[in-house]
Amino acid sequence: MSTVPAELRSLSAAVPTSFGMWDGGGWAEAAGFETLPLRDPWADAVFTHVPAASTTDVDRMVKTATATFGSGSWSRMSPAQRGGILIAWADLIDQHADELAVLVSREMGKPFRDARTVEVATTAKLLRWYGQLADKLMDESPRGLTDALALVTREPVGVVAAITPWNFPLSLAMLKIAPALMAGNSLILKPALQTSVSSLRLAELSSLAGLPDGVFHVVTGRGAAVGTALSRHAGVACISFTGSTEVGLRLLGDSAASNGKTVSLELGGKSPNIIFADAPDLEVAIRTAVWAFTFNTGQMCTAGSRLYVEQSVYDQVVDGVRVGAERLRIGDPLDPTTDLGPLSSRSQCGTVLEYITSGLHDGATLHTGSDQPVDADRSTIAPAVFTGTNGSMQVAREEIFGPVVCIQPFQDEQEALRLANDTEFGLAASVWTRDVSRIHRMARGLDVGNVWINSYEEGVPATPFGGRKMSGNGSDKGTYAVDKYTHLKHTWIAL
Ligand code: NAP
Repeated sequence: MSTVPAELRSLSAAVPTSFGMWDGGGWAEAAGFETLPLRDPWADAVFTHVPAASTTDVDRMVKTATATFGSGSWSRMSPAQRGGILIAWADLIDQHADELAVLVSREMGKPFRDARTVEVATTAKLLRWYGQLADKLMDESPRGLTDALALVTREPVGVVAAITPWNFPLSLAMLKIAPALMAGNSLILKPALQTSVSSLRLAELSSLAGLPDGVFHVVTGRGAAVGTALSRHAGVACISFTGSTEVGLRLLGDSAASNGKTVSLELGGKSPNIIFADAPDLEVAIRTAVWAFTFNTGQMCTAGSRLYVEQSVYDQVVDGVRVGAERLRIGDPLDPTTDLGPLSSRSQCGTVLEYITSGLHDGATLHTGSDQPVDADRSTIAPAVFTGTNGSMQVAREEIFGPVVCIQPFQDEQEALRLANDTEFGLAASVWTRDVSRIHRMARGLDVGNVWINSYEEGVPATPFGGRKMSGNGSDKGTYAVDKYTHLKHTWIAL
């Protein structure tokens, strides 16, 4: 029985049935006036429409963004003033948090509770952090030159294109928008088609905060058309991408075929979560392991989808994870008691079910979950807990992007490390142990960009986030993100 609060029901009912694109300060139709329907995955029905942009629209936005950059209205504004506008924008996001969270719930099925307290809150926090950073960065000059002064300065690159996925539609976009704008660039965001509307509302708030016209654009449409138009555009200086490894690699080719633009990639993962018998609190480790593969219905690049457990506590952990997974409440994303919403789409649901079927076919044991949806009329999947998997099985090797975990025992530290690193991905890993020496050995040995010890998915805006191997290059977050949005310049002044 769904109990959606009245205020959320009315916010949901108020979502417009069509949106324009955000053309740097106002709404615009696509040049061809074509629109695309967006489906609410819980209702399994179309709830709104957005313009289907084409190369013509992308070209127009790049021209406007380039002209705005050249005008200096933003790029040469004082850093303190730029920071003030970003902070005002963050305040507006907080003020409109319920509305934005409802949009996220409707467009991709995230429980409102998580959309409000994690997704929207993180988006405002990131923006505020970069706003506060704006006037605190320094350029450099080496000491001790006798007859010269050498300056090492940073300059904005020009027009940045951010291409982002649907799983954390606002916060992942903000990881790119905030540092790129703070540095003085113009930016064109191409959100995943499915999650266009939360980004459009976010953009509208930027104008209310005082962002000058022409600086920030949101172009909507199909990835293959609009994304490619951006990645091949000679007027774009940097593509900042978060999404699948397959598309990410294609963008490198597009850069090579156009203007050699910088391509920053945050890609997929198959992250190991490693529990040793001496975990400080085994119950916390088990609870967190359940969270790590089910949060956002498992649609998380860092999902802890490979769980390695020391043999002596293996049975206890398998049982605890099964019980924890079975307790989760699957339901209407707008119901505050819902833990797991639907998968983001019918096709995503079908893909995840196929992986579960493949695990069964390969002889793995399914302790809980099913290769059938919970409700035949919706894209709902019960969390699936497998044992008896090995690294050659598809279910244990490939990124699934759904609530599926493969649990495997290990005998000692060396075996845990070997199993954890036996993957083409290198995004994140977690280790549970109280042994300080082992913590350091494991953190050094794990071939990933992010290691969490006795925790999962932690960080603050100041700490970097990025992957290696097929999980990408470069870093989002912190001052590290600013590197890709700025050119380094050396100026030598003979005295
Ligand atoms: P995706 O299919 O790669 O799409 C990502 C973005 O690229 C979307 O905006 C998409 O637009 C666009 N796109 C699609 N084809 C394109 C093309 N040929 N050229 C340019 N752009 C194109 O990924 P997704 O399914 O949205 O997201 C899931 C993936 O993202 C997973 O692999 C996950 O691990 C990864 N991810 C990584 C991180 C990280 O930080 N490392 C974080 C979150 C997610 P349309 O959707 O409109 O087609």
